[in-house]
Amino acid sequence: MTAATGRWIRNFVDGRFVEPDEDRSFDNIDPATGQVTARVHEADRALVDRAVTAARRALHDGWATAPVRERTALLRRAADLIEERFEEFVAAEVADTGKPVTQARELDVPRAVANFRTFADVVAAAGQESFVTDLADGRRALNYAVRKPLGVVAVIVPWNLPLLLLTWKVAPALACGNALVVKPSEETPATAALLAEVLADAGLPAGVYNVLHGFGGDSAGAYVTEHPGIDGVTFTGSSATGSHVMRTVAPRVRPVSFELGGKNAAIVFDDVDLDEALGGLARSVFTNTGQVCLCTERVYVQRSVFADIADGLAERARGLRLGRPTDEGTTTGPLISRKHREKVLGYFDLAERAGAKVLTGGGVPLLGDTLDGGSWIEPTLWTGLTQADRPVREEIFGPVAALIPFDTEEEAVALANDTEYGLAASVWTDDLRRGHRVAQAMNVGMSWVNTWFLRDLRSPFGGAGLSGIGREGGESSLHFYTEPTNVCVQL
Ligand code: NAD
Repeated sequence: MTAATGRWIRNFVDGRFVEPDEDRSFDNIDPATGQVTARVHEADRALVDRAVTAARRALHDGWATAPVRERTALLRRAADLIEERFEEFVAAEVADTGKPVTQARELDVPRAVANFRTFADVVAAAGQESFVTDLADGRRALNYAVRKPLGVVAVIVPWNLPLLLLTWKVAPALACGNALVVKPSEETPATAALLAEVLADAGLPAGVYNVLHGFGGDSAGAYVTEHPGIDGVTFTGSSATGSHVMRTVAPRVRPVSFELGGKNAAIVFDDVDLDEALGGLARSVFTNTGQVCLCTERVYVQRSVFADIADGLAERARGLRLGRPTDEGTTTGPLISRKHREKVLGYFDLAERAGAKVLTGGGVPLLGDTLDGGSWIEPTLWTGLTQADRPVREEIFGPVAALIPFDTEEEAVALANDTEYGLAASVWTDDLRRGHRVAQAMNVGMSWVNTWFLRDLRSPFGGAGLSGIGREGGESSLHFYTEPTNVCVQL
């Protein structure tokens, strides 16, 4: 137990944890059991204002102009400290989300470490544009761009991969010299608070990283985005909230970086190695109980292998082990909350009314003991739905997919692109040329061939349409977190 977690999960402002206020607090719930694990102190407007003021002061006190090697050294120390406290981060993430401990150990916490190390490398190696300009009179001018930090940046993140997504923003933002006001999801406040301890121990000056807990509307989320002292917002969450945040900052014309929802397609061609494709597809539908923005919810399968894929995927779904998140053998945790389960079950009803055939799942499992107080749901697969049905058009964000047959490559591409979202796609084929062709034809930010969620953190990440604005990753992150000033010198 630390100052960050324990009975209270506290706000962190200007280098200190703030004394909590019982009258302004809410329960932190374990989604696996429904039991209360801690109280979370909800930030009010005055605390948000203190955080923004502290962030501004920290920028002026030298953080914005600190040498790059100091900032990158700090990022590397932060990575080392997360590794030293690895199991604490794992435990906090599992308690907040209910995700299997093996996933937190293999994906969430190692990715946080990698985020800090990668952006230390990226920023250390980053150059700047320069051009020698030929003038009409035979003389020359030198143009070069100097990148300055964006300023005080609001970082708003969701509950599905809380630490991974937070550090994906915090690492490049700090490396570029910004000061941050972080609003984690109300469902998963613990690791953002734990990270405050780590960053302070790594030597981050007071005021550079602040954490404010609370909800979205009429709470910390709104107070942060409405604050006139915010220079930009980097947001990961639903498309509806993203649109709301955009309207909030529009009068002050602040830049936004949005990673939003998805309705991602997989396309399976009949030349594929079925076993390999099934392994990848199962991972893409069911990882994190389907609560990854990149998860597949639409599987288009070439007709001649449709039955094989449908049977094989259903068998893999039935092989998933729902259970206590701390058990090493558990593959699948609960949904994040009862409220989210109501939403997912609503789509189960819609699918049934649209005439779907349920290949597997379709309900709420009985697990026995205290787990039945949690927000569990059965991994579910449908056939028989059409492109027009809402479960095929809208993001569900659960362990669920609709399988739809196709005949030709053109038809598959058209079906996959028939969506307002544009985040990710995966193509499963042994035909090399077709793999490239179809992957490039997807109107998405990330297109995988014969794999899914394989990331090189230097490559661009983001979405089109309802899935977002801008790209993160490698140098793309630096574009958002810095403002260039072009200097032109007549030679
Ligand atoms: P959400 O939009 O409900 O909440 C995200 C964050 O925004 C939370 O911290 C929330 O408190 C805050 N928020 C809510 N209303 C707000 C408001 N009016 N003003 C300011 N902040 C507000 O999303 P969620 O349910 O937490 O997360 C799931 C969604 O996130 C899914 O749609 C998923 O696809 C998306 N997501 C996208 C990516 C990506 O990289 N594209 C990654 C993960 C999740």
